[in-house]
Amino acid sequence: METKIFKIASIFENPDELQQAADILARGGLVAFPTETVYGLGANGLNEDAVHAIYQAKGRPSDNPLILHICDTEMLPQLAREIPEVAVRLALEFWPGPLTMVLPKTSRVPDAVSGGLDTVAIRFPSNLIARELIRRSGKPIAAPSANLSGSPSPTTAQHCIDDLMGRVDAIVDGGSCGVGLESTVISLVRQIPTVLRPGGVTVEQLREVLGEVRVDPAVTHPMAEGQKAASPGMKYKHYAPKAKVVLIDGQQEAFVRYVNERKENGVFALCFSEDVPALKVPVVCYGGKEHPEEQAHALFDALRRLDELGAALVFAHCPAKDGVGLAVYNRLLRAAAFDVVKI
Ligand code: AMP
Ligand code: MG
Repeated sequence: METKIFKIASIFENPDELQQAADILARGGLVAFPTETVYGLGANGLNEDAVHAIYQAKGRPSDNPLILHICDTEMLPQLAREIPEVAVRLALEFWPGPLTMVLPKTSRVPDAVSGGLDTVAIRFPSNLIARELIRRSGKPIAAPSANLSGSPSPTTAQHCIDDLMGRVDAIVDGGSCGVGLESTVISLVRQIPTVLRPGGVTVEQLREVLGEVRVDPAVTHPMAEGQKAASPGMKYKHYAPKAKVVLIDGQQEAFVRYVNERKENGVFALCFSEDVPALKVPVVCYGGKEHPEEQAHALFDALRRLDELGAALVFAHCPAKDGVGLAVYNRLLRAAAFDVVKI
């Protein structure tokens, strides 16, 4: 399949390209586009065939449900059977933005979107290109991250090109994504609101608005064999570069010593800028130690760079486990398949 590339500097400078991309979506095609979290691979979320094509292009397991993206809260009632008061509070505070809410679904939402669950995940992104694309297509847009299943999520159009060229109808190049990690997913169908995936909207911010908020144990722990996943995406190996990744949980001095003692061909460090001067192995830096937003923005590109550089074994310096750090930690845990060394 030929993949068109639309370079869009802004919705005002390139309305024609934007319209062409929206028309492809409306016709049932696949379009990768930027959001403030990561690039999404979009399709008309009410068209079952179009949604199936997403799974095929990504090689995504069919029981891993998709997020529906809207450009207006008026689109919500056709998708969610109930809109509890907590959802309204969250929408007022965090939409448009990097927060996804899981709500009971209406019969209009195809099973292919919800992975057979009776709930649906919905997000109202803040990125203007994303919003304008959704508005012009006139549909809620189902969009998982625009990467091949299992590989690090794309934060630039080049990442989408690397993974999906020839597999999708179009890629909208709108520059690099601000947050750099996927949205926070919160389930509102249980007694207590529960974070299924941490992201740019932090657990602390959610608690400020809602009071009690739980964090699903699968955010920081591997799931037991046969355990049912609240968020099916959590059970899969994720975000992984080709190299083996080991997460090293310790202070700077101990981390540097641990890595330098294991210096060998193919050994790399994925580290903070403060670690760089003392390390004797090749490094890829993913931001400053005290700057989780910077780490979130840099992480997926750093994981892809490690592959390009031919890393075989990567020792990753563990981030903080609160605030946006929790989201960075959650992705690194999965990139490392939960291989953590505490030093
Ligand atoms: P991605 O679009 O690749 O960021 O993945 C979407 C994430 O949202 C996956 O981890 C899914 O498990 C989660 N998700 C989507 N729909 C639901 C749902 N109805 N219930 C729980 N989690 C969901
Ligand atoms: Mg994904």
